[in-house]
Amino acid sequence: MTKLLIIGCGGVASVAIHKCCQNSEVFDDIMIASRTVSKCDALKAKLEGTTKTKISTAKVDADNVDDLVNLINEYKPEAVLNLALPYQDLTIMDACLKTKVHYIDTANYEAEDTTDPEWRAIYEKRCKELGFTAYFDYSWQWAYQDRFKEAGLTALLGTGFDPGVTSVFAAYAKKHYFDEIHTIDILDCNGGDHGYPFATNFNPEINLREVSAPGSYFENGKWVEIPAMSIKREYNFEGVGMKDMYLLHHEEIEALAKNMPEVKRIRFFMTFGQSYLTHMKCLENVGLLRTDAIEFNGQEIVPIQFLKALLPDPASLGPRTVGKTNIGCIFTGIKDGKEKTLYIYNICDHQECYKEVESQAISYTTGVPAMIGAMMVLRGDWKKPGVFTTDEFDPDSYMEALNKWGLPWVVDENPVLVE
Ligand code: NDP
Repeated sequence: MTKLLIIGCGGVASVAIHKCCQNSEVFDDIMIASRTVSKCDALKAKLEGTTKTKISTAKVDADNVDDLVNLINEYKPEAVLNLALPYQDLTIMDACLKTKVHYIDTANYEAEDTTDPEWRAIYEKRCKELGFTAYFDYSWQWAYQDRFKEAGLTALLGTGFDPGVTSVFAAYAKKHYFDEIHTIDILDCNGGDHGYPFATNFNPEINLREVSAPGSYFENGKWVEIPAMSIKREYNFEGVGMKDMYLLHHEEIEALAKNMPEVKRIRFFMTFGQSYLTHMKCLENVGLLRTDAIEFNGQEIVPIQFLKALLPDPASLGPRTVGKTNIGCIFTGIKDGKEKTLYIYNICDHQECYKEVESQAISYTTGVPAMIGAMMVLRGDWKKPGVFTTDEFDPDSYMEALNKWGLPWVVDENPVLVE
């Protein structure tokens, strides 16, 4: 009996849990634990009877290490799959170390309170030393390397689509197609339409914090930072068509730059429509993207959290969203002394995802790799002591699993490059 504790029961977790239940051979016993236990109970009620996987539920405050430790000691899982928010990464890693269980997540640590002076001092030092100002970075979790190694435990970081699958694509390209990779462009295209004037496809707070921040890319060993949305390109995506895309900072650039130092330039682009950008700019201009608390009618509120309460719940977008996503990586480099280009991508259809697991494709493309990452650790394919990102393991069985579990990929050896 292999037990997996899944923390969080939002959009991404719901897909990962559906997928674990389709894969009962590996996931024969799961516990869903979150802040709002009624969501866990509702999902359990929906899935029970359709799967051989035994499901239990619990309430947990993942900001509280003791609460987590008690739950882990009670349930005794082999690993914890963290699908709560990046704010909880460190408390969950601490609890895993205390209870000696493996750790898996999909997004790197981000501080919830960016005004905390202790956090700010470390953040500002990092901005100066590394040259990018995003609120999230790997340093906090990489600092657990020795502790996980000594405990003989695996921490697998960032097994969503991007980061996650995109880094596995890079490892696969390196293993099978290149002697040397020179550039990587990660392209994330969402051609879906949910019919609302404005909504985000995953947690609005995390999403808006990410896309309203300055962009950056890695070139010749250094970070280059640019004002938000100031580098724009057009690209004709298979299955979607022509889209505008913008250069963003993204967490897998940091891991790939560290683990593939021979790569000369790594960039990340995401597609946005003009209406999304205009709404976001307006919300930013009026102060609704602020992450610091303000006083309102005698009560403290954080504007971006208030905005989250007003926006459609990403989990509710599934039935309304039509169209496709296309996410992948374009590589250039050298093979057998000759220049080579390669594009590996996945196309995912929002309505197909909804039919299968009642979620739109953004949650689907994250939840499936979350299940696969957990499977890699539980099955032992990717089990070694320490803290790792997905580019640091042999990619072949993960790539096979993508084809098997709903995210088939395509290799194009003659792609149009991004200027
Ligand atoms: P949601 O907001 O839909 O879900 C988050 C869940 O975590 C909710 O169930 C929430 O509970 C729970 N939660 C939040 N705080 C706590 C806490 N303190 N204790 C216990 N449970 C808590 O987010 P998503 O599903 O959209 O995103 C989940 C993760 O996936 C995020 O980390 C996000 O950054 C990541 N992600 C990664 C991507 C990738 O490609 N790598 C892409 C998209 C997302 P409640 O129901 O009470 O609010």
